[in-house]
Amino acid sequence: MSTATGFASLSSNTPLVPFSYNTQGVLENDVAIRVTHCGICHSDLHHLKNEFGHNLWPMVPGHEIIGHIVEVGSSVTKFKVGDRVGVGCYINTCGKCEYCSTKRSQYCGRITLTYNSKKPDGSTTYGGYCDRIVVDHNYVNTIPENISSEEAAPLLCAGVTLYSPMKHWGVKSGHRVGILGLGGLGHMGVKLAVAMGAEVTVFSTSPNKKEEALRVLKAHHFVLSNDVEEVKKLRGSFDFLINTISGAAINLDLYIPLLKTDSTFIFVGVSPEAHSLHIAPLIVKRIALVGSLIGSVEDSQETLEFCSKNNVVPMVEVLPISEINTAMERLERNDVHYRFVVKHPPSVPKVN
Ligand code: NAP
Ligand code: ZN
Ligand code: ZN
Repeated sequence: MSTATGFASLSSNTPLVPFSYNTQGVLENDVAIRVTHCGICHSDLHHLKNEFGHNLWPMVPGHEIIGHIVEVGSSVTKFKVGDRVGVGCYINTCGKCEYCSTKRSQYCGRITLTYNSKKPDGSTTYGGYCDRIVVDHNYVNTIPENISSEEAAPLLCAGVTLYSPMKHWGVKSGHRVGILGLGGLGHMGVKLAVAMGAEVTVFSTSPNKKEEALRVLKAHHFVLSNDVEEVKKLRGSFDFLINTISGAAINLDLYIPLLKTDSTFIFVGVSPEAHSLHIAPLIVKRIALVGSLIGSVEDSQETLEFCSKNNVVPMVEVLPISEINTAMERLERNDVHYRFVVKHPPSVPKVN
């Protein structure tokens, strides 16, 4: 056993506090990872506020994890000590069901999430806000050399959560894609859709994001979503809308008419509020209203390879893990550019 050190939540809506625990021993299929970087997802913030209502305290969030392998189990041949690797949103599944056997294991009914979840042995999982994690190597991704650790981290949730549905529903060159909300997920959605050849429109509540969205993220159009008349002008324009908004339900009666016949409205943002809608606009244009959950381990590897090949990386603000509560407060205020990644201090070499 070794000690993992970092930060944990001890109760709802309270700051994260310094925390350490003994990690499990390394079993034959496991690897132990010295975590160097971890992205901060809005899901972490939803959890800190207990908005999903099933918290297991103490809770160590963090599911955009990058680090180096420091120990390998006796049956592991795919990885060796020193390899730079990533761990995303889940660390175990049944391995046998129809979803596990078809590279859709994120939908396995017996999934173990990277944190705030129970392992098959009954113990609680702790994520990347602590500096060591021990996981089955089948849930570990290889990081391409040309992506830095801070830029790789958000690809393991924000990146794959957008890549997976775009691949599944077939976003391709010439499609018109609207991204709702320009945060961690949304800005990856813009970059990925542009790289896939789509014509991309951002719907945002933040006028200060316009210039960069067009110039740096290479979106083709930017619409202030509070300007309802501007939004309405885009009636019948889109092959896909992708909702990444975290904070509120959206007006579906405003957005559904923007879609074309046989188009798809994809939901990945998890607003704590319920949505309401009129069904008829879906019926008359055969519009699919769908949700999508992260991506499989295989999708994550594909996302990493796609991003490596197409020079798609997130824009990140890197902070030391000691400033985790500042990052959370800023994320809550929508003051992040566009993803926080926290960095653990380098490990202190052992003196014999
Ligand atoms: P984020 O960085 O905070 O971005 C969310 C964006 O939504 C904000 O930047 C803002 O964009 C917009 N927004 C926030 N509150 C709003 C409000 N009240 N009204 C309208 N727009 C609002 O969050 P994130 O990390 O990208 O995560 C986004 C959501 O996806 C969260 O709910 C998260 O839990 C969920 N998520 C889902 C999955 C999945 O598997 N489906 C995976 C990861 C995360 P503008 O400033 O541009 O308006
Ligand atoms: Zn996430
Ligand atoms: Zn399964």
